[in-house]
Amino acid sequence: MAEFGNYIQKVFPAVFSSEFIQHEIVGQYSHLLTVQGSNPDMLPYMLLAHMDVVPAPPEGWDFPPFSAAEHEGFIYGRGTLDNKNSAIGILQALEFLLRRNYRPRRSFYIGIGHDEEVSGWKGAMKMAALLEARGVKLSFILDEGSAILDGIIAGVEKPVAVIAITEKGSITLNFTVEKEPGHSSFPPKETSIGILAAAMSSADLLCHRLEQNPLRNLFGHGPEHMTMEHLAAEFRFPLNLIMSNLWLFSPIVSRILAWKPSTNALIRTTTAVTMFNAGIKVNVIPPSARATVNFRIHSAETAAEVLEAVRNTVADDRVRIDVVDAFDPLPISPWDDQTFGVHVFQRTILDTFPDVVSVVPGTCIGNTDSRHFTNVTNAIYRFNPLLLRPEDLPRIHGLNERISVENYEKQVEFLFQLIKNCDIDELPEPHVKSHEL
Ligand SMILES: [Zn+2]
Repeated sequence: MAEFGNYIQKVFPAVFSSEFIQHEIVGQYSHLLTVQGSNPDMLPYMLLAHMDVVPAPPEGWDFPPFSAAEHEGFIYGRGTLDNKNSAIGILQALEFLLRRNYRPRRSFYIGIGHDEEVSGWKGAMKMAALLEARGVKLSFILDEGSAILDGIIAGVEKPVAVIAITEKGSITLNFTVEKEPGHSSFPPKETSIGILAAAMSSADLLCHRLEQNPLRNLFGHGPEHMTMEHLAAEFRFPLNLIMSNLWLFSPIVSRILAWKPSTNALIRTTTAVTMFNAGIKVNVIPPSARATVNFRIHSAETAAEVLEAVRNTVADDRVRIDVVDAFDPLPISPWDDQTFGVHVFQRTILDTFPDVVSVVPGTCIGNTDSRHFTNVTNAIYRFNPLLLRPEDLPRIHGLNERISVENYEKQVEFLFQLIKNCDIDELPEPHVKSHEL
């Protein structure tokens, strides 16, 4: 990470030598850049990215995961989609602007975190605290999280830009049962494993009671309803009619969305039993059994409500439930043509991606560094200006992560244009509706 810090300073000399750009290293490895615009009256904004990646053992890769090998128009490497593309793309766009003697009018911040994949407590959280301590208020934040989806939404044929206006919350719970240990030759009626198993599943062992009681379907109570309404016109017949009349078809649509895990995750709080540990020896009755469950919380629920629902479902005093960590879903950012950030995104997408037929609000089912910044802005948007096809999705956090050279160039072009578009101090007349773009 220190090497990465040296590298960006070497390859983007204009950025790091500019007299109106302040560079700070935060939390040892993260980078915070303050670009001082020429007009201090304009409310600043922030571009976020992260340099850390999930592990990538070389087995199964066509090219070594840290080689950035270029092959048939693609750059291969861990982080090429998540999220070194943004970290480098933002700096490259700014470097180009500076080399053309462009001085931004509106101030902005660039945050490059170094621990997003492990919650951002040392990077993003410290950068956010620093801005807050300085009394900074931001017009908007743009971070990773969603993209231009091409052939990914079933029934929509053309590419659609989905900008996530919220993120699901999360609560992780430990379930523990402790009992007297003993010899397996004269076992008690119920063991800690059995009790814990029953708590999670009434039929087989642990995972059932909770997994068979999925938390309620919340379609219509969160931003996914807005997504469908904005997208309605892009669906093929008869889906377009259905999506345009959600007042009538909402129950059907919500049941369809529940079929696939990826869309099911949009409409409810999900339950995943992720760890289960019990037993110490083949002939010893286990003194304790423990399971860990991770819930991802839908916008219309809170961590406290989920905890309450879980306690009621388990309903067994012998099962101790401890909260490992928890946070509520992120607030829903404003979405209309009068909102500066939204306006700028629509305009910049139109400038850079003429094939995109629609710009719609969405939900990010994962979490990003931007969640630490709610004290400096209410307008947080998660959007990576990348065209993603279905075959790209498994590469993120998976094997052979890669970005096409064309996609990367487009990303830089988008950011270049975005910085320029942010220098418009007054919003032009509200014109097109997002779905008419
Ligand atoms: Zn990421």
